[in-house]
Amino acid sequence: MDNDRTPIAPLREYPVYTVDALIQKILDDDKQYDLSKIVSAYETADHYHADQKRESGEPYITHPVTVAYILLELGMDTDTICAALLHDVVEDTDCTLEEIQKKFGADVAMLVNGVTKLEKVEIFTKDEQKAENIRKILLAMSEDIRVIIIKLADRLHNMRTLHYCRDEKRRVIAHETMNIYAPIAHRLGIRSIKDELEDLAFYFLDPYAYAEIERQMKLRKEARSKLIDDIKYKIETRLANDFDPVPLIEGRVKSNYGIYKKVFRDGKEIDQIYDRYAVRIIVNTVTECYNVLGIIHDMFKPIPNRFKDYISTPKPNMYQSLHTTVIGRQGIPFEVQIRTWEMHRTAEYGIAAHWKYKEGVRGSSKDDNRLAWIRQIIESQQESNDVEEIVRAIKNDLAPEDVFAFTPKGDMISLPVGSTVIDFAYAIHTEVGHRMVGAKVDKKMVSFDYQIKTGEIIEILTTNADGHGPSRSWLNICKTNEAKSKIRSWFKKERREENIFEGRSALEREFKRNMMRVPEDELEDFLSLDMHRHNCDTLDDFFAAIGYGGVQLSKVMQRLKMEYNKRYGEKIISNVEMKDIKPRSKNSSGVIVDGIDDCVVKFAQCCNPLPGDEIVGFITRGHGISVHKCDCPNYQRQKDMPDSESRWVSVKWAEVKDSRGYFKTTLDIIAVDRIGLLADVSSALAMINIYIHESVSRELKNGNAILTVTVSVAGMEQLAGVIAKLKKIKNVISVERSGK
Ligand code: MN
Repeated sequence: MDNDRTPIAPLREYPVYTVDALIQKILDDDKQYDLSKIVSAYETADHYHADQKRESGEPYITHPVTVAYILLELGMDTDTICAALLHDVVEDTDCTLEEIQKKFGADVAMLVNGVTKLEKVEIFTKDEQKAENIRKILLAMSEDIRVIIIKLADRLHNMRTLHYCRDEKRRVIAHETMNIYAPIAHRLGIRSIKDELEDLAFYFLDPYAYAEIERQMKLRKEARSKLIDDIKYKIETRLANDFDPVPLIEGRVKSNYGIYKKVFRDGKEIDQIYDRYAVRIIVNTVTECYNVLGIIHDMFKPIPNRFKDYISTPKPNMYQSLHTTVIGRQGIPFEVQIRTWEMHRTAEYGIAAHWKYKEGVRGSSKDDNRLAWIRQIIESQQESNDVEEIVRAIKNDLAPEDVFAFTPKGDMISLPVGSTVIDFAYAIHTEVGHRMVGAKVDKKMVSFDYQIKTGEIIEILTTNADGHGPSRSWLNICKTNEAKSKIRSWFKKERREENIFEGRSALEREFKRNMMRVPEDELEDFLSLDMHRHNCDTLDDFFAAIGYGGVQLSKVMQRLKMEYNKRYGEKIISNVEMKDIKPRSKNSSGVIVDGIDDCVVKFAQCCNPLPGDEIVGFITRGHGISVHKCDCPNYQRQKDMPDSESRWVSVKWAEVKDSRGYFKTTLDIIAVDRIGLLADVSSALAMINIYIHESVSRELKNGNAILTVTVSVAGMEQLAGVIAKLKKIKNVISVERSGK
């Protein structure tokens, strides 16, 4: 026994097909086959392979016969079956192509030659070789699609018997199957082969995960069959009213690899996978598809956004069906697929279903469309000399939904397109993600937002330093839910103080952006509903939840905005105004409101009225009068609006006495920039006893500087003095009130 062979059981028991079974199947089939030609091909193959055995110890001929049988199940033609029987004789025996051509014609010879060429490129080693191999596969496909269909059947049988293979070779073949052949089967729409190839490759690459999923599914098997039987019965009974005969209704089981992808890649729980339970309804016409859909939606409650119409918009591989997810009686969602028989054949057999062999004509025009992408890849890769680039381009095109990358040890990790090295790190292990400090792709350092491409080898650099953890910004970079939820839960656990701070600032930013201003002592009450919904007992809990991402602000803000309007009811006043309303005590406002005594007066800082300005008041709901300048754009815009017209009242300045009631105003000072400018401004203001609350300076595009200072003044008169003083400072070009 070989040392490097770990015993592994076959995935399941497969029948060994004999030539008798093959002949019986041909006789049972409706299609026209040239039986004597097929039998003659068998005899030739049997003759040449007579002394050979497979690794299993079985006679070699069982392999070509099984490959032929698989192709027969796909409905392929006589020449394809003959070529399948003969596909290994040129490679492995003394038989020549000339002999095959003489006995079986040019087409069979061409097919055997195509498969033989592919046979030689079996195992990938270096990248260069990989690219070359893929190119050969594609070239063979573009020459005659039957070559690759034979190759797929060949690979399928080899995968079924892969447990006889040496460890190392087994992994390489399984990888190649997962990366190249299953995607090709997918692109050609041959679902039956694609699913089986994927399940087998998955089984050999990760037997433990496979066993776990198998176990989990077994646990649920009884419940599942009962549920599906129940649904089938209900639908059948209902459809019997409108259809005669009743359409075929069948239960569908998702492939183990399909479940694996959702569980391990998308981070779903097995019980969350909607299409784990599925029924398929097959009808005669497209109209019936939509009629049945209507009936299903009438019988069960559909889940929003889960309806997909692949009839009007077929998938790239020509797949057509209606998909919808509905809720069954026990509240368990299940998927319903509705299609015609024609669509069903396409879904199962893809391009093979449309295989119409005519003498001298290779493929129909429909097939030509499907093959266009192959030609495109071949053409596009001729322009590039970068082999690795070609491999990636080809593979990405083959499997547009997934990328497959490798750890330095050669473990494959599959992720959705657009995934970054962060996703990769978390896919390896949670701790690898948390401790990640960098990543190398094909030995070169890359940034954290680097998007993984198929075929790349990715090394995650980690640290053991205490207290190291993910960065919050990663949440915006990574793509998979798995990585996101792991990052969130790290923050949840490790950084409560930081989360509270982050969460509070984020909420404040959101409030500001939406011009909302909630008094601190009302905040808890204001947020109470959302706190309750997210199981937060205290404000800090709630802020922390925002901080680690457990509460998504974008989701709660919609309701909060409405709540805000309800409570603080200033719907009519524009947002700009709301932001800037600052309460001032009524006795120091210095404003007299006509006909209203003793009311709260606030100054709208959208226009920031100062004593001396012409002003007007607006009666807010519950917040007194807000005072605007008469030339304020908000007032100008709203004064004639029917809702607010009657709420504008005339107000005037009370006499300003001594130093009581200073007003804040902001000035823009534009100057030719120089050192000491700010110092000169502050000393000039200090000289006339003007207090600066705030000052900001920045450079303008033309090289000048703009200095924005907020000062307190008693009124227009004093302000004029301040402006005059500032204008005298060297290099100052202009001084104006902000926002004018
Ligand atoms: Mn073979």
